[in-house]
Amino acid sequence: MLHTRKSLRDELLDEVFASPYAASALPKYRIPDDEHLPDRAHQIVVDELMLDGNSRQNLATFCQTWLEPQIQDIMARSIDKNMVDKDEYPQTAAIEERCVHIIADLWNSPEAAATMGTSTTGSSEAAMLGGMALLWKWRERRRAAGLPADRPNLVTGPVQVCWHKFARYWDVELREVPMADDRLLMTPEEALARVDENTIGVVPTLGVTFTGAYEPVSAISDALDQLERDTGLDVPMHVDAASGGFLAPFVTPDLVWDFRLPRVKSINASGHKFGLAPLGVGWIIWRDAADLPKDLIFDVNYLGGNMPSFALNFSRPAGQVVAQYYLLLRLGREGYRRVQQSCYDTAQHLAAEIAELGPFEIIHDGSPADGIPAISWRLKAGQEAPFTLFDLADRLRTRGWLVPAYSLPADCENTVVQRILVRHGFGRDEASLLMDDYRAAIAHFDSHPITVPMSEEEAGSFHH
Ligand SMILES: *Cc1c(COP(=O)(O)O)cnc(C)c1O
Repeated sequence: MLHTRKSLRDELLDEVFASPYAASALPKYRIPDDEHLPDRAHQIVVDELMLDGNSRQNLATFCQTWLEPQIQDIMARSIDKNMVDKDEYPQTAAIEERCVHIIADLWNSPEAAATMGTSTTGSSEAAMLGGMALLWKWRERRRAAGLPADRPNLVTGPVQVCWHKFARYWDVELREVPMADDRLLMTPEEALARVDENTIGVVPTLGVTFTGAYEPVSAISDALDQLERDTGLDVPMHVDAASGGFLAPFVTPDLVWDFRLPRVKSINASGHKFGLAPLGVGWIIWRDAADLPKDLIFDVNYLGGNMPSFALNFSRPAGQVVAQYYLLLRLGREGYRRVQQSCYDTAQHLAAEIAELGPFEIIHDGSPADGIPAISWRLKAGQEAPFTLFDLADRLRTRGWLVPAYSLPADCENTVVQRILVRHGFGRDEASLLMDDYRAAIAHFDSHPITVPMSEEEAGSFHH
């Protein structure tokens, strides 16, 4: 008894790194037999996280990596609230509703106050819901007309992987406009060439993943209007505005891409990208209740009240949604405009610096009229260089920067690009540090050329 007491006291007094736990590695693939003191276990876990990259230096991600302390507080207060339980947490549910209407209004919904929409875990879930609504509506129309409804297709430009998932999960033929060397997105002509009576919808992207450029939503809508006048075929649109949905309304309000186009029936965006909210929130809004098939809404009555649910997930944390509401309140239109504009300014500054280096051709220079605050570039055609973009990306990793290099999708698989996302929290000073390191990386390969030069193409397959 006395002995146990003494060893217990010793244990409580142990310095974390002088404790027995620090003297051996913990099992990684089975649960330990015994308990550990919380501060010890915490130290071990937190230390392991040091091996992750530094998110602020991750210039590959579109997702928010800088958050105000007030947001950390909101997240901590909401950690125990379930977004789905609208009966127990009615105020959180009301806040979600307000966000839906505010965002619908930002997207020029003709009836923002009456519109339908929901928060999701991100744009991927939102896209899945948007695609399902298009599919259900198309089937309804086909069945009502006594026509077969078994071969649906979806027309898109070069899309984010969530649309490939949607197409595969729901057995919808994806008619993805391939890239061409001089056309890295969907144009009205290319969209029209793929549309027929089995097209459930056309999905342009406001901020193409691979380059950052906006697809011409309004011109595609015009082309579909013309198609309807010529043939009677009425094809709806959904806009994947994962990034652009929280950029264009503030920085380029005259760009027409949203519900001002009657053909646009639904829009998704990621709250956790340029919505500036912490990871785990997206939004989808339908133009009109009629665009969301009733069949897809479930009534849940076992949590204490009757609540309609239209989502793929059930339980999920509420903090991200509350933080989104905080941000909308805190920044307002002008605050969002200033934050996003400063990202664009930094992006354009970086584009000019990268162009000045000589060997690179800028694909998207971060100008707000053309796309999101990102820069994408490739080696100039015929450019001899003692490095590939993959080599530069690897070299930058030694300084902690993640500036991804990747090959483009079909039909431009042989083109390798590099891309930087400029997000809230990446300022001009950091940009100058990054450029110093980029120049140093190039100088390194100038003096230590890669001895067996790999073509971009070989390097591409090597890295995949
Ligand atoms: C990021 C992105 C998605 C997926 O969004 P998540 O919020 O990460 O689920 C879909 N489409 C586009 C265009 C994107 O940029």
